[in-house]
Amino acid sequence: MPTAVKNTTKAAVRKTTKKTISKSVYYFGNGKADGNGSMKELLGGKGANLAEMAGQLKLPVPPGFTITTEVCTYYWANKRTYPASLAKTVAENLKMVEKNVGRVFGDAKKPLLVSVRSGARSSMPGMMETILNVGLTTETIPGMIADTRNERFVYDAYRRLIMMYADVVMEKAAGIEPKDDKGIRKVLDEKLAQIKKARGYKTDTELTSEELRKLCADFKATVKTVLKKEFPDNANDQLWGAIGAVFASWNGTRAIAYRNIEKIPHEWGTAVNVQSMVFGNTGETSATGVAFTRDPGTGNNNFYGEYLVNAQGEDVVAGIRTPAPINEYSRNDQSRHLETLHEIMPKVYRELDGIQKKLEKHYHDMLDIEFTIQDGKLWMLQCRVGKRNGRAAVKMATDMFNSKMIDARTAVMRVTPAQLDELLHPVLDPVAEKAAKVVAKGLPAGPGGAAGQVVFNAADAIAYFNAGKKCILVREETNPEDVTGMRAAEAILTARGGMTSHAALVARGWGKCCIVGCAEMHIENKVITVNGVTIREGDWISLNGSKGHVYVGKLDMMAAGANDKTLLDFLKICDRVRTLKIRTNADTPEDSAKAREFGAEGIGLFRIEHMFYGKGSDDALFNLRKMIVSSSLDERKAALKDLFPFMKSDIKKTLKAMAGYPVTIRMIDPPLHEFVPHNADNLKKLAEALRISYADLEKRAEGLRENNPMMGHRGVRLGITYPEVTETQVRAIFEATAELLKEKVTVLPEIMIPVTCTHVEIENQKVIIKRVYEEVLKATGMKKIPHMVGTMIEIPRAALTADEMAGPAEFFSFGTNDLTQMSFGFSRDDIGSFLGDYLNRNILPEDPFQSIDEKGVGELIRIAVRKGRTARPNLKVGICGEHGGDPRSVEFCHQQGFNYVSCSPFRVPIARLAAAQAVVKHGGKK
Ligand code: PEP
Ligand code: MG
Repeated sequence: MPTAVKNTTKAAVRKTTKKTISKSVYYFGNGKADGNGSMKELLGGKGANLAEMAGQLKLPVPPGFTITTEVCTYYWANKRTYPASLAKTVAENLKMVEKNVGRVFGDAKKPLLVSVRSGARSSMPGMMETILNVGLTTETIPGMIADTRNERFVYDAYRRLIMMYADVVMEKAAGIEPKDDKGIRKVLDEKLAQIKKARGYKTDTELTSEELRKLCADFKATVKTVLKKEFPDNANDQLWGAIGAVFASWNGTRAIAYRNIEKIPHEWGTAVNVQSMVFGNTGETSATGVAFTRDPGTGNNNFYGEYLVNAQGEDVVAGIRTPAPINEYSRNDQSRHLETLHEIMPKVYRELDGIQKKLEKHYHDMLDIEFTIQDGKLWMLQCRVGKRNGRAAVKMATDMFNSKMIDARTAVMRVTPAQLDELLHPVLDPVAEKAAKVVAKGLPAGPGGAAGQVVFNAADAIAYFNAGKKCILVREETNPEDVTGMRAAEAILTARGGMTSHAALVARGWGKCCIVGCAEMHIENKVITVNGVTIREGDWISLNGSKGHVYVGKLDMMAAGANDKTLLDFLKICDRVRTLKIRTNADTPEDSAKAREFGAEGIGLFRIEHMFYGKGSDDALFNLRKMIVSSSLDERKAALKDLFPFMKSDIKKTLKAMAGYPVTIRMIDPPLHEFVPHNADNLKKLAEALRISYADLEKRAEGLRENNPMMGHRGVRLGITYPEVTETQVRAIFEATAELLKEKVTVLPEIMIPVTCTHVEIENQKVIIKRVYEEVLKATGMKKIPHMVGTMIEIPRAALTADEMAGPAEFFSFGTNDLTQMSFGFSRDDIGSFLGDYLNRNILPEDPFQSIDEKGVGELIRIAVRKGRTARPNLKVGICGEHGGDPRSVEFCHQQGFNYVSCSPFRVPIARLAAAQAVVKHGGKK
């Protein structure tokens, strides 16, 4: 048993021994119930809903009772024993069931059979156990046959009991580890298959009564031989064996693993539901089925389900026979030829349809229901909130809100951010992905899926793109020179880098699939070797950028539906609820337009240096490089003069694309080494333009190289050493704004100073800003140009001295990429090489570059907001690090009283949802 489980079991011991159990069994059936649907903690999901269906809704539910989760906790805390009164209480409840059903458990004439099923608080599909037909013994079998006049049915029920009981109670719960993974269920299944083969039968229903009787005898003998124990021939022994096995299954290996993945507390325990059996396998007027009140795949408001005539529940899910559709709507390619329940049992179908409508109206949600029809009578066996995919979740929430079934706050909680994300990107076909083997894992930097042929440099990516071929650009790491190739590729895969590395930032901004930091991959001479596999240029690979999984080969894809009306309608519901504003990080007019489509309310980060990336930016980039390698004021001024028109025009276009909304323009913050050309051709051209020798240029480039560029000459430091760099940018902003204002376009620029650590830096820059502002006012004849000046908070010292920073700064924008880097001391570009070990060994719970580390980085943010707003009460506060698109971080920002979050265009819908959910969870007024 893993340590975590041992510990939680100990914790459970302490709790339960302190607490006494007042009521351990809850009855339901015949229009009455001790419990109700709100008692999931005590009765488990299944038990609570059975009580609700029977007691509140008066639906036809076979009578039964639920043994509470507290008994399970007691059982584990007390060496697998029960509270002293349990046997008596179970017997009393069994009596009530007997009375209601008119049968007696263990009776030779009119025996009652029961099912025993687990039912945890939160559903754990397939993880725990069910035993049907409990109570069939050599004594009760003749009574059952006489009563049902159906020997075949009775032996069919008996062989199922032996199989389930031997597997669940006698093997698994007894802790027997079968040899070669061949458990008793498999052994018995093979026996059944042998008979069918020998007789030439296709389905179980073809077995005759005599064959089934012999099979049961054979099953019992086999159980004895294999498990060295007799199959119990006493109804009560069977019942208590089954109850104990369900409690034992709570700590079965599968169940523990599932809970660890789903983060379900180990101390919750499961309830046990004992319920009188109804049979879908008594003949042609009986059936069993599973249905959803709406289509869980599309969200359409159509009753949707499958059923099987003459079968028990497990047959529908087991896939032995192809289930038939319950109605026309539910037909699919496999079931097209089969008769619907509506056709063969119209009256029962109408009753079922009435019940499903009643259930949805009652629960205000889509439900998954299980039913059985015994000799033409309908019984409800289960109902629970149904699982659904992203598209269906969005459609159902929107439809239910529109039809006033739920309010806006409920609607926004019905869709998880991950489900919404499903709608925004093409993804790998889940079926194809499941069948494929993961060849390597990296960090999930850009969501969605992609399949393409491997290329190793930007030029090849462009060549593939131009030839109409899909490719995936594989690099050690990327830099701005790769950007056009990155744009041309379907996806990007790098061996190095973290979640905020260049490749990750750029890809996410484009909504492109990207995996970074895939450290297992070795790239040499255009060959990847990874985990014993060799991949060459032109080979197909597929990526799941949401998980960070790499596959060899071309997997099928599923399209995204970003522009669909239902999605947009759903996001409008989110907007009714949220209080945070959602901005975007965008550097081009195209990205701004895309972000507006997704509902962005401004730009929270326009990185000036990003205008030097991508298509059509060659001239601007060339001038920027000239500026970077300039060695004198004159040279730099000349380069800036050439750069100015590019800057102004780009800023103007972006301001215009965001008309009516604020645009935060950040002063240039280029990691200089990234912008120095790497290839000889570009270096040569640059030397010519500067009229210096190649060797001289190499020397200058070498002089720019820093040992620690992330903490080097960047951000505001550039503006301090080269005031003319700030001056040029600010002039471009003011002139562009003035021109747009004259064109009657509403623009609201916010000038943002990055990488500051003291308020004096901001004051220094504000002197330049003020001077240029006045010069532009004079030149344009304008009285004022509305704007704000603020700073990024990306260095711990800035956060800790936020009261001083808020003196000159009118707004703060948290640059949590750098703030995380500086707080942890983890390089944002190199974390990929060790993060895996940190996560695998539970040193860190998750990548701090993905979701804000609330304890450390979060504390700096709390301090900064508090101190900043003390000094300047109306201080505007936002975030523009990559965390601005992470749902949990958005929630954190809401809690800290931020005005807005800013994220890449494709994350805007997720942020709108997360901001609305934060209001529901933590409150907040519009
Ligand atoms: C940050 O540091 O969070 C930020 C947004 O700036 P950049 O990623 O450009 O350093
Ligand atoms: Mg930064």
